[in-house]
Amino acid sequence: MKSDPPTKTCLVSIQKSNYETINIRTLLEPLGGMKHYIQKGERVLLKTSLLLPSEPKKAVVTHPAVIQALAETILDIGAVPYIGDSPSGQFTKRRLEKTYRKSGLVTVAKNLGIDLNYDTGVTKIDIPRGKKLKKTPFCNYILYADKIIAVPKIKTHSYMIMTLATKIMYGAVPGLTKAKYHSLFFRRAAFADMLLDVLSVKKPDLIVMDGVTGMQGDGPSGGTPVDLEVLLASEDAIAMDLTVCDMLSIEPIWIPTLRQAKIRHLWPSKIRYPLLAPQDVRYTGFQLPSSANSLISGSKNHRQQPIPTEECTACGQCVEICPKQAIQIRDHRASVDYTKCIACYCCHEICPYDAIKLDYIK
Ligand code: SF4
Ligand code: SF4
Repeated sequence: MKSDPPTKTCLVSIQKSNYETINIRTLLEPLGGMKHYIQKGERVLLKTSLLLPSEPKKAVVTHPAVIQALAETILDIGAVPYIGDSPSGQFTKRRLEKTYRKSGLVTVAKNLGIDLNYDTGVTKIDIPRGKKLKKTPFCNYILYADKIIAVPKIKTHSYMIMTLATKIMYGAVPGLTKAKYHSLFFRRAAFADMLLDVLSVKKPDLIVMDGVTGMQGDGPSGGTPVDLEVLLASEDAIAMDLTVCDMLSIEPIWIPTLRQAKIRHLWPSKIRYPLLAPQDVRYTGFQLPSSANSLISGSKNHRQQPIPTEECTACGQCVEICPKQAIQIRDHRASVDYTKCIACYCCHEICPYDAIKLDYIK
């Protein structure tokens, strides 16, 4: 039975910025300001992105200037900010110390008199509605926060193509368990679904994206810094990532998390831009990781195409999911316009009757 997808309009606030002129107040104004999200006395986690110990100029980690500006705004309200992440490798106090120091966060914490998280405790939690992950260890520093502000960075990712807001809560999974999940969910689609399951446990209350200096090429650690000069803010991770794709002229369906989110009906029906729009801050020539070459050169001639079969009941679910409006129902059967099709296979994945086969078209 076909159910109607939810309709949802999301706001994404976009501002031109460099690290010296960050103005959180202006950025958050269209969303209701920081007070809309944070109350006096609350413990507010600034969930930064700390892949490994790395200097901010290399663009591997969220820049400390963004964290500092957010912490100052939270302190102004009388709330209690603290900074945390679970970097790659062992989730230990020693590893955290090294990562915080190298990424400039020890200085931020000292300047403002706020805490860096050193609690490496975890709690096993159930995710009954998880598509791939039904239970997982989950870091206490996230579970015990009253509010979460996630602060991802615009970066490429050789496996997930881009690492953006939808992936930021993977830092809730402690250290080496993250590596274990890479082997457990070794297909991109399964890994992306697992990330969406993790995100569903504790969604950030607010996301502020560090796009001042991003990373292009073979990220998330081996790429090159690129000056994009933007900050973005939104409550919705998917809307944020769709916006970044628009700004960088990336086909969103190439990003596995966005592709799986589309299949799970998590895309907003509309995104509003109260300040700048993606076209106002468009960056041309952004380099994706080399692992994305087959997607880009696409060469759909060398890729299998979706072919509706006799099993089709004309239920229309593939029509609805197709990101390129390449499918229509004709004569009671789905029909694909291959001049529009980008071979993302969302239709194949969603068809409840197994009525789309994948094959090469002569
Ligand atoms: S191909 Fe599948 S999803 Fe598309 S209309 Fe036919 S039965 Fe429905
Ligand atoms: S594979 Fe082609 S027809 Fe199917 S959803 Fe993707 S773009 Fe649309």
